[in-house]
Amino acid sequence: MNHAKPLPGYLIQRYQGWKATSYAENQTWYRRLAEVGQHPRAMVISCCDSRVHVTSIFGADQGEFFIHRNIANLIPKYEPDGEAHGTSAAVEYAVSVLKVAHLIVLGHSSCGGVKGCLDMCTGHAPELEEKSSFVGRWMDILRPGYEQVKDMADPVAQLSALEKQAVLVSLDNLMTFPLVAEEVQGGRLSVHGLWTDIGEGSLEYFDPAKGQFQPV
Ligand SMILES: [Zn+2]
Repeated sequence: MNHAKPLPGYLIQRYQGWKATSYAENQTWYRRLAEVGQHPRAMVISCCDSRVHVTSIFGADQGEFFIHRNIANLIPKYEPDGEAHGTSAAVEYAVSVLKVAHLIVLGHSSCGGVKGCLDMCTGHAPELEEKSSFVGRWMDILRPGYEQVKDMADPVAQLSALEKQAVLVSLDNLMTFPLVAEEVQGGRLSVHGLWTDIGEGSLEYFDPAKGQFQPV
């Protein structure tokens, strides 16, 4: 039985407003997008967090970014085991079909998923250690990142450091996908690690030469 209900009124009003303004003013552009299909130059993997707004911070329009969002912007290791892997499917499609030139992993400040991982790894979240916890098992991907920050004394700095580890672990795991590694080595694809501070509106990128994040 399907329990779906009509949209709440505020969303209907907002949709109608968009259709009458943004869409109406750019109808030719939308029709063209529909006809020629998508050719995004970049894929972005960001967190589900509602405060992370990747199209806003880059001023991007429809058709520019192929975006995948999941808890804590994590990419799992390449694991061709015949099971359903949503994030791996998105990466595979972006690289093999869309042939994007850039793969961008975007982490962020005060990430609830990363905080959950920190709590779990320090024994403060037994519910996340349950086999039945989807969030807990997903955050297992970040356990190697926790190993890098476990000795930090300042809890605020430790959380930020683990948020950045979520980006670095994901970049490492991206390279376990044979096609990604092949395209990167062939110079047709580049990978980028970013972290944004929501309150400050600042953006940092990982500089491999310095081994640390730097302001953009
Ligand atoms: Zn998050």
